[in-house]
Amino acid sequence: GEALAVSARVAPLGSRLVLLLVEDLTEARRIEAVRRDFVANVSHELKTPVGALSLLSEAVMDASDDPEAVERFAGRMQGEAIRLTNLVQELIDLSRVQNDDPLEDAEPVPVYELVAEAVDRCRHAAGTKQITMASNVWAPGGLEEIEGREGLAGSDQEGGGQLPSAADLRVWGNRGQLAAALGNLVENAVNYSPARTRVGIAARRVAQSGGALIEIAVTDQGIGISDKEKERVFERFYRVDPARSRATGGTGLGLAIVKHVAASHGGEVTVWSAEGQGSTFTLRLPEAAAAPTRDRTSPSSR
Ligand code: ADP
Repeated sequence: GEALAVSARVAPLGSRLVLLLVEDLTEARRIEAVRRDFVANVSHELKTPVGALSLLSEAVMDASDDPEAVERFAGRMQGEAIRLTNLVQELIDLSRVQNDDPLEDAEPVPVYELVAEAVDRCRHAAGTKQITMASNVWAPGGLEEIEGREGLAGSDQEGGGQLPSAADLRVWGNRGQLAAALGNLVENAVNYSPARTRVGIAARRVAQSGGALIEIAVTDQGIGISDKEKERVFERFYRVDPARSRATGGTGLGLAIVKHVAASHGGEVTVWSAEGQGSTFTLRLPEAAAAPTRDRTSPSSR
């Protein structure tokens, strides 16, 4: 401190450089700590299923004369193998969204395609729990309105006139990444909801200065998230209830991926939730029509 203060008086420019270096070092240390935490978390998350697999395989060998026990242990081994596969896949997804520039292969992506893909991905899990999935953005011609928890349903856009119907909404970005993001939100909605509830996906266009946004809201009637946890659920490996997350094959990486995808597309993801009542996760992304395309010259550049 004192040395800096002295050098500040003597050579203001030099001291600014020193300060920048100190800040850089602090930032570098912070990044290093985050990286170390991440590696420790990954190791722990990998060790758990691998350890279980090793114990279970021993149990299978010991129980070779008891077919029922063998079957039981084999079933649990399969569960652990699925967990490992999920984890590795999500790690790959996370590293992909962190390393690739999503806007390199950006294109207009119809929201209904993203919704159809997300719903397909969860159809089995939702089916076994008799969870109804509804959306206002099914493929054109197959519209189904839903009642959005926060008034997001269908055509409540202000201004009237020639607004596109929800089925025509398109976002600007990387199709694979956007599908992964929405898929994660819908998957969570199904995983953290009791049987015979409803998951709604509602999209709408929000006009803004400097290009419209598309809002895609995923609403569930599930267990909800407390105010205290709301901040943290987007952190890598953070889970409100690790046992419950594991039981559904969760990795704690899903929302970190969603957050990263939203940010790198110039958008955001937010959560509204009431414990015991449900949650709404809202993705806000730039609309395709508003995004500059490479093969079109804007009038002002002529
Ligand atoms: P996971 O693989 O555990 O689902 P995520 O990163 O997707 O990891 O979510 C982090 C945590 O946030 C979850 O473990 C869960 O506790 C909480 N969470 C996510 N989505 C919901 C939801 N729709 N309802 C209630 N809790 C949720």
